[in-house]
Parts: sequence; structure tokens; C-alpha cells
Amino acid sequence: MHQPGANPNDLRMEDVLCDFCAAAWTPERAMVEGHRGSCICHACLAVAYADLSPQPARQPIGQGPCTMCLEDRGEPHWRSPVRDVARICRRCARMAAVVLERDPDADWSRPQA
Ligand SMILES: [Zn+2]
Ligand SMILES: [Zn+2]
Repeated sequence: MHQPGANPNDLRMEDVLCDFCAAAWTPERAMVEGHRGSCICHACLAVAYADLSPQPARQPIGQGPCTMCLEDRGEPHWRSPVRDVARICRRCARMAAVVLERDPDADWSRPQA
């Protein structure tokens, strides 16, 4: 998400916030973007991925659309304990993990189950 009042035509790094913990994007805090400016940071993704990747997931089927893909796939969702309006579905958590692992600047790898 974007900082309220941020100029969408001149976004700075600190205007981009994680939808799940509201922390700002920094060189140390890698982010993966979803639809409509939604973002998840590496720290939130690690927790979400650890909860969602096992079969069965450690999270229930979510109600309502995923913040990242805007779809309601009837999949397990992880909801942030900090911002519980934000949720990420299993598919998005997996896709974001792949993106982040390929980002040489992120230095991130998915948590081992
Ligand atoms: Zn976060
Ligand atoms: Zn999703």
C-alpha cells in the first residue's frame, strides 16, 4: 500500500508500505508487489509462507479476497496480526517466495518447514 498523501506519480521508497505490517520499504526490507499497489515485505512473507506452505496449511480457508491478487480462491489465507484487513492466499505466498528468492538484493530464502 502507499503512504496516505503520497504522490502516485512520484513515489519514493518510503511511500511504499507493507500491507501486512505497515513498515516502509527500505534497502534492507525487500518487498514483493501485488495488484493495486499492495505489497508484502520479506518478514511478513516468511511468516505467511511458513503457515501456508504445509499440506494442510496451518491457516483456515479465508473469507474474502486476497490483498495481493484481489481474488477469493477458497484457499487458506494468512492474516497479519498487525493489520488484519490484509490477507494473503497460499498461491500469492508461493509466488512471492519465488520472486523474492530470485531477487539478488533481497538475500531471502523461504523458511524450511
Ligand atoms: Zn510486512
Ligand atoms: Zn492471492
